[in-house]
Amino acid sequence: MNACEEKIIFLGADHTPCLDFTKGGCTFCEACASACPSDVLSLTCKDQKALHVKAQIDILSCMAWHQSLCNSCLDACEPRAILFLGLFRPHVEMDVCTGCGMCVSICPSSAILIKEEVKV
Ligand code: SF4
Ligand code: SF4
Ligand code: SF4
Repeated sequence: MNACEEKIIFLGADHTPCLDFTKGGCTFCEACASACPSDVLSLTCKDQKALHVKAQIDILSCMAWHQSLCNSCLDACEPRAILFLGLFRPHVEMDVCTGCGMCVSICPSSAILIKEEVKV
């Protein structure tokens, strides 16, 4: 928790560490992994996209999907994983999203969640 400069790691109810993306996003700096004395966090998983944790936009909460001009998430996403169909229909390109969570706290309507990707 102390190693994370983004301050997104907190202790969950079961006393294991969790990530809180409402406070910021993960830069994949690996400081938490380096700090872990039990070597629980893997430094070998370099393919961030293989983690299968992705951003999902709740279109019922999203302002743009309700015809209000908003594209805050667009600028927050460095990998450019958020695309707009026209002006009002943002969606996440799952193949591009790294699950960094940088888009979560920036969303004025809390419409973005980081979730495990469901494969169909
Ligand atoms: S890898 Fe992410 S969670 Fe870990 S210390 Fe860096 S920013 Fe924090
Ligand atoms: S920042 Fe939030 S409300 Fe705005 S377009 Fe993105 S998901 Fe929708
Ligand atoms: S989690 Fe990161 S990569 Fe994925 S859409 Fe949000 S800002 Fe972009």
